[in-house]
Amino acid sequence: MSIYEEIGLRRVVNASGRVTVLGVSTISDDVAKAAVAGAQSYVVIEELLVRAGEIISQYTGAEDSCPTSSASAGICLSIAGVITKGKKTLMEKLPNTDGLANEIILQKGHSINFGAPIDTMIRLGGGVPVEVGQATEVTPEHIEEAITEKTAALLYVKSHHCVQKGMVSIETMRDIAHRHNLPLIIDAAAEEDFRKYIALGADLVIYSGAKALEATTSGFITGKKELIGYAREQYHGIGRPMKVGKEMIMGLLKALDQYEHKDREAEVQKNIAKVQYLVEEMNKISGLKAVQVQDEAGRAIYRARLTVDPANTDKTAAQINEELKAGNPTVRCRTEFLNLGMIDFDPRPLVEGDKELIIEKLKKIMEG
Ligand SMILES: *Cc1c(COP(=O)(O)O)cnc(C)c1O
Repeated sequence: MSIYEEIGLRRVVNASGRVTVLGVSTISDDVAKAAVAGAQSYVVIEELLVRAGEIISQYTGAEDSCPTSSASAGICLSIAGVITKGKKTLMEKLPNTDGLANEIILQKGHSINFGAPIDTMIRLGGGVPVEVGQATEVTPEHIEEAITEKTAALLYVKSHHCVQKGMVSIETMRDIAHRHNLPLIIDAAAEEDFRKYIALGADLVIYSGAKALEATTSGFITGKKELIGYAREQYHGIGRPMKVGKEMIMGLLKALDQYEHKDREAEVQKNIAKVQYLVEEMNKISGLKAVQVQDEAGRAIYRARLTVDPANTDKTAAQINEELKAGNPTVRCRTEFLNLGMIDFDPRPLVEGDKELIIEKLKKIMEG
């Protein structure tokens, strides 16, 4: 029984992924131990922020880094930093940035809602989002023509939430940004490669701690030393309500260490085996059809995709999803393509016994 069931809450079978609404991920015993040890001692927080930044940078290859309470906070602190550039007077006026270069250019297909609008995180840091192009087509000219003396930075969002076609590449955005002496910020919150975007020449890259890393609730910004310094300074101002606990930082550092030593290929294979089980068993249930699909953003994540076979059932995918959610345990799937009649099952968060439970519940739903 989980500690949540002990207080009367439902058991969750998470086939949705590393999503905030279900608690993102679970930490390992070693990460938990690091967090507990961190919580039980005092430390000079300023020194911890700096030292943790140095350690994080060893895993990203960047000049410097800054731990955050979440990727959302990382976006906000980065934006606040590139606008106020370490100037105390300007920082103390945040979130008001009237008269400053405060515009943040992003592609229209990148203006996403990841559970909250990215637009909100930009504004929270004093930025004014400037969306360029159309939702399905952006050209380098759109970006170039939007740059004025009011521009503070360019923001690229790497996510499966984004429109995946018709957008300008990171390399092109980087070249445009640097030609204009502007920083390129990348929101790579859910990405699994902590070196890639720094190696590509991004100036600030933001990651979530609890997603790919399975760390404590946290995040980090990694990138150019000067810009990281500007972001870290925000903890004495607008960043205060986003402060990251010392125990969360220690959990994050332990998770980075574990991630480095993890056999990721073996993990992918284990997850594929779970997907294959689900696909095979789903296809045995009358009225259901299932296939294995790869993540839309091209990550090494495979999922089982369920559709209904209208020749053999009157139920819609939406009804099946509702019935999966109902009752205890509640089975939570990815529903991004539910309007197209598809339910996706992410194998990564499934624990022992979950995949069998999903099949049992589906059988009951389809028989009932
Ligand atoms: C999850 C996500 C975020 C927010 O991450 P948190 O750590 O939950 O704040 C931001 N951007 C993208 C693209 C995400 O997927």
